[in-house]
Amino acid sequence: MDIIELKKHLEEADMVLVGIGEDFEEKRYLQQNDRYCDCCGQIAQTGAEWVMPYVNRLFLKDNHKLQVAYQTLAKLLEGKNYFVLTSCMDGLIRETSIKPERIVEPCGTYSKMQCASGCANSVQDTYAQLLEQIENCCFEQKDWSTIDTVKCEHCNGPVVLNSLYAEHYAEEGYNAEWSLYTKWLQGTVNKKLCILELGSGMMFANILRFRFEKIVGLNQKSSLIRIHKNLYQIPVEISERGQGISQNAVDFMAEIAEIC
Ligand SMILES: [Zn+2]
Repeated sequence: MDIIELKKHLEEADMVLVGIGEDFEEKRYLQQNDRYCDCCGQIAQTGAEWVMPYVNRLFLKDNHKLQVAYQTLAKLLEGKNYFVLTSCMDGLIRETSIKPERIVEPCGTYSKMQCASGCANSVQDTYAQLLEQIENCCFEQKDWSTIDTVKCEHCNGPVVLNSLYAEHYAEEGYNAEWSLYTKWLQGTVNKKLCILELGSGMMFANILRFRFEKIVGLNQKSSLIRIHKNLYQIPVEISERGQGISQNAVDFMAEIAEIC
């Protein structure tokens, strides 16, 4: 499938569901950064993994190729009725023209925080000073154990960023967006739905890959475009309405930027 075919596919669709997976976390880019790797080592030693969504963001925000890939996606979705599910927690997708109310981040995000023990109703917006402390640890080599967070008003324990990296992930953080998504999904019944799956491997297969295969299996008017270097195969039951592209999804989206 080339870009012209892809665009035609999207144009013909009434609704577009996008799934963004691990490719967009750009591990290969991050792992080339010595400072990033040092930080990861120190974070693991301190047991402060909950900082990772923001650490990843700090090191990824200047990744030009990733920016172009996101911009291409935003352009492809212009004027469409869409929803985007992403496993990324760095919030970079929110710096595009993609409508914020059409994005759901089931793995969490750095922009919210929660009680480390997962107390109910503890999710709130992250305060700037917490993010500043994380940034200082990354670039001014401050000790990760010095991060001082506000206390949970329920149990007086520390708060952490609201994501899968938290020891007890408070999933209520994405509830509101998830209800919008399920409502939107109900509206896809009998509609020409195109699912664009971008770089989702097995790590979050339950929220992306498998879920999408099921949707396509149920809706005879739907189609699936799956972009992944190795796991681009389409299950035989839905193979007639699916196309796999064997390429890293960020590379693919960045490459087609010029023609979009
Ligand atoms: Zn608590």
